[in-house]
Amino acid sequence: MARPPTERTTASPEGSASLAKPWVGAQSTRGGVILSMTILPTTITGSLPKPRWLADPEVLWAPWRLSAELLDEGQQDAVLLALKIQEDAGIDIVTDGEQTRRHFVHGFLERMGGIDWSRRVTIGIRNNRYQADVPVVIGPILRRQPVHGREVRWARAHTRRALKFTLPGPMTIVDTLADEYYGDRRALAMDFSRVLNEEARDLVAGGANVIQFDEPAFNVYLEDVATWGVAALDSAAAGLGTLGCSTAVHICYGYGIKANSDWKATLGDEWLQYEATFPILAASTIDQISMEMAGSRVPLTLLRLLGDKQVQLGCIDVATREVETPQQVAACIRAALEHVPAERLSPSTNCGMVPLPVDVARGKLRALADGTELVRGGLAAPIGRP
Ligand code: ZN
Repeated sequence: MARPPTERTTASPEGSASLAKPWVGAQSTRGGVILSMTILPTTITGSLPKPRWLADPEVLWAPWRLSAELLDEGQQDAVLLALKIQEDAGIDIVTDGEQTRRHFVHGFLERMGGIDWSRRVTIGIRNNRYQADVPVVIGPILRRQPVHGREVRWARAHTRRALKFTLPGPMTIVDTLADEYYGDRRALAMDFSRVLNEEARDLVAGGANVIQFDEPAFNVYLEDVATWGVAALDSAAAGLGTLGCSTAVHICYGYGIKANSDWKATLGDEWLQYEATFPILAASTIDQISMEMAGSRVPLTLLRLLGDKQVQLGCIDVATREVETPQQVAACIRAALEHVPAERLSPSTNCGMVPLPVDVARGKLRALADGTELVRGGLAAPIGRP
């Protein structure tokens, strides 16, 4: 993959002159986009709280507060705010904050053919961890039109930073739907891979530098990850690298809601789900793995199972409203640096921030950027000199 002409590389502590692989794709010099990348580029998983006038910021699946007539305008304004919040905090690879979606899965599905939204059923999702009202698959999955084309172009037009765009991964989509047509989760996932790939190609054309597939279901259905989950993911990401974008997968232990906290309490002293999935992902085509670390019981040694993949390291716990100190973030990064070289590390959040109060999210983003800066300062020091 060619490196963006404007990209700046930073010497590693070992003195290597360039990054092993660019963090973001090469197509983004258009429109004067600046991709000046420092070492340890910061990012967020994807979502940010919505402004109170758009939807309740502390509720999942919160209904919109604006009428249909005002909703488009309100969502566009909210994206500008989300970009501004990230830029002010010092986040390097930004997102649209998922301000135009009520939920990270259903936001993508709303415009798909083959899904009946008039009939919602309540099912247990993530292996019955919690209940959700979901639509029903009643026919072949069809992407009749681009889903997020307008959003990506709007975000691209209003930031000069590298832009990440998130999509739900095929396995997580299948787990957040009721199916009355396919009768086979793998077949349904593979059909979603096809439409996800179509959508991702349009997002790259619209200016996205990183396409991230969110797959929290990967931490739940470990056998399915091995038999078809990563195959479906690779299929969704097929060919995106040749378009000059980087690909990522986000795998976490979920938002900071009670059902997830209760589940985590059952996982024992060491959370070993990644032990099963990381080696498979290391052999996949995906460039970056976004994972949960802050406040978790994930053994850091598991990072070594990721081969040469880039790591988006969750250094911000979204399950607590307590804002981390920069020193806590720095300690999280330094601990990971024992197992992954700085060139392959990008400090991030554990998961989406949509259920958090806006001021808490702002504080956490600042802590993420400030804590990363503390570590960068140490890396820049001449090696081997007093
Ligand atoms: Zn997550």
